[in-house]
Amino acid sequence: MVVDGGSGGTCEWEGRWNHIKKFLERSGPFTHPDFEPSTESLQFLLETCKILVIGAGGLGCELLKDLALSGFRNIDVIDMDTIDVSNLNRQFLFRPKDVGRPKAEVAADFINDRIPGCHVVPKLYFRQYTERLLKRELFLYDLNRHFKKIQDLDETFYRQFHIIVCGLDSIVARRWINGMLLSLLVYEDGALDQGSVIPLIDGGTEGFKGNARVIFPGMSACIDCTLELYPPQINFPMCTIASMPRLPEHCIEYVRILQWPKEAPFGDGVALDGDDPEHIQWAYQRSLERAAEFNITGVTYRLTQGVVKRIIPAVASTNAVIAAACTTEVFKIATSAYLPLSNYMVFNDVDGLYTYTFEAERKENCSACSQVPLDLQFSPSSKLQEVIDFLIESVSLQMKSPAITATVEGKNKTLYLQSVASIEQRTRPNLSKTLKELGLKEGQELAVADVTSPQTMLFRLCFTSE
Ligand SMILES: [Zn+2]
Repeated sequence: MVVDGGSGGTCEWEGRWNHIKKFLERSGPFTHPDFEPSTESLQFLLETCKILVIGAGGLGCELLKDLALSGFRNIDVIDMDTIDVSNLNRQFLFRPKDVGRPKAEVAADFINDRIPGCHVVPKLYFRQYTERLLKRELFLYDLNRHFKKIQDLDETFYRQFHIIVCGLDSIVARRWINGMLLSLLVYEDGALDQGSVIPLIDGGTEGFKGNARVIFPGMSACIDCTLELYPPQINFPMCTIASMPRLPEHCIEYVRILQWPKEAPFGDGVALDGDDPEHIQWAYQRSLERAAEFNITGVTYRLTQGVVKRIIPAVASTNAVIAAACTTEVFKIATSAYLPLSNYMVFNDVDGLYTYTFEAERKENCSACSQVPLDLQFSPSSKLQEVIDFLIESVSLQMKSPAITATVEGKNKTLYLQSVASIEQRTRPNLSKTLKELGLKEGQELAVADVTSPQTMLFRLCFTSE
């Protein structure tokens, strides 16, 4: 594609980077106190600086466009999703012909075609799509070769980037990448080696609300330090869903929570997949039946999918604002020309327009970044199930399916692990045993693994009197 004002074959032309040079080759009243204007910063952006963008959806499209137009040319992008027709109104790097293709790949191709010299490398990561393809036994070889989820990429991959930007809608994935960057930190005699810090710029949007934040892992508040800001999902009361539905959503939730596991229409243990049309069709039909029983109207296929996937309508302009703020922070940090945001900006234009910036503080006993083993207070007669429930329900931990191991009588013992069916079956009886019965002692270390972090978390068991 030839760009207006471009010079055809070559990817540089007179004045191409003038808009950026204005910031980097002269100082001004708002520049960083230590900033010295030079031509080197631009060279660094163009030639050396490596950025990772996680997510190529609403925020990701904006981020890639903004970064590429700001002079960043070495960009990797990871995404877990394929393009759906409903994305096209705001995810502007995609066209109707791209529906069904991986977002990361299409977004990278578009930017590389449109912005000469830009080199975006897609990493494809998506579990649901992979599973669907596997079901149809397609492209097995390709799958193994190409499809990546963030958890499949290791330290060596993440370490190569100067800055990582997240445009994700998943808190678990955010926490995981946060944990990964914390695991890359190097301490010498207790002092953090600043060279091991990879800044994380995190953008998030939900309808008309959004936030942008700058995290220097190990130095400023991390994602888990402020976990309370992500309240657990609000659900409809079970009694309403089970016996007194009033809204179409109640009927869909009934099917999702109760009817699906009971009837297992696609086999035992197959989870309801919001991206599988056959699953949604089934849930939609059952929800209609349920709604008819209670004279409730308004159940549609679209609403069914919305409730199952917990879709919050996306607002394109919110994505644009947040991505612009995030890109500005990437630019400031990469060039050291300006002081970065310190460190949390909220944006809200539900009613008028409101924005506010505050400094989120590090939490002394943050389970991710404090390096202090946390105490777990339980009585010796508490059951293991209570410990698991605590790890899941605690607002500051919010784990998803914690697996617990401990050293008992000199042997490393898995007390409970949910993710592997055979181990789950073998360890399930432990859930109803007391901590004493399991042979756990005061001060015992418990190692807990969970999808919210690549690292195992250490806890110390403190017995309370009964
Ligand atoms: Zn933290």
